[in-house]
Amino acid sequence: MKRRDFIQKSTAVISAPLIAPQFFQPHKTLPLQGNTSPIAVCTWNFTAANAKAGVALEAGKTALKAAIEGVAVEENNPKNTTVGYGGAPDREGHVTLDACVMNHQGNCGAVLAVEQVKNVAALAYDVMEHTPHVMLAGEGALQFAKERGYTTEELLTPESKKRWKEWLKNAKYQPIINIENHDTIGMLCRDKNGNIEGVCTTSGLAYKMRGRIGDSPIIGSGLFVDNNVGGAVATGMGEEVVKTVGSFLIVEFMRQGHTPQEACELAVQRVLEKQKGKPNFQVAYLALNKKGEVGAYSIHGGFTYMHYQQQKNTGHKANAAYSL
Ligand code: ASP
Repeated sequence: MKRRDFIQKSTAVISAPLIAPQFFQPHKTLPLQGNTSPIAVCTWNFTAANAKAGVALEAGKTALKAAIEGVAVEENNPKNTTVGYGGAPDREGHVTLDACVMNHQGNCGAVLAVEQVKNVAALAYDVMEHTPHVMLAGEGALQFAKERGYTTEELLTPESKKRWKEWLKNAKYQPIINIENHDTIGMLCRDKNGNIEGVCTTSGLAYKMRGRIGDSPIIGSGLFVDNNVGGAVATGMGEEVVKTVGSFLIVEFMRQGHTPQEACELAVQRVLEKQKGKPNFQVAYLALNKKGEVGAYSIHGGFTYMHYQQQKNTGHKANAAYSL
């Protein structure tokens, strides 16, 4: 390189930070339009959880506080075998929970493979608010929970234990499509200020390998929120959601101008593009934008979601690429 070229190049590099960044496309914030009342949506038919969040929103709570209160209904429910207390254990009999939260400022928190603590969405919130970190896993997350005063208890209920013992007889580890094995609760709320925030909480795949983490606590996969645009949550085979960073992808499609419905369909299509024919796993998405529009779509039929707005809490069936 000639000396003159070198000087020119170095000058360009040195002066670069002084120049205002140029973006290819300006960031567009979707306007709040039409009915601006609070909204809660969640995966599957978690009626009580969604209603709880709706009522909290009406009372003026922030979207994230409302969502954490809402999902706690299922985290505390021993009959729900895929979230919180009573969740199915891993193949060695340990119940390990995953959760994440994201707020309207783009801040987030997550806990992975936590044992003995059922309200892991609240714990993920505490990671966001009270640590300099985004994720805490396993022992460290449990230690943090104890420091924060969380109750610790055995999360394996006698019923879950019985089912696990039954499973052990054959110990077949295969992904299953049906609803019993995919009940992660992902919830998105829009509060009175028009802010969108969300939560995702799960016990993960039933009888998973010890230490296995799915999509649910991974920001961008199980949950993503951009308050300029909207939010998305995922349920189903976490390994497949992670491969296409599903929730982030949906929010980006919405940013490009797609409706939540189109965005969910495009994200499912992205998963299917990598498959040869009909896959034997489920992936399902739910999205909400700033305008309050909702979209949902899954690979296989059977995916449902709840929608709360103006004192109405209604259940809906999502369309699917392959109906049952
Ligand atoms: N997505 C969750 C996971 O992979 C499972 C589910 O939604 O049921 O851990």
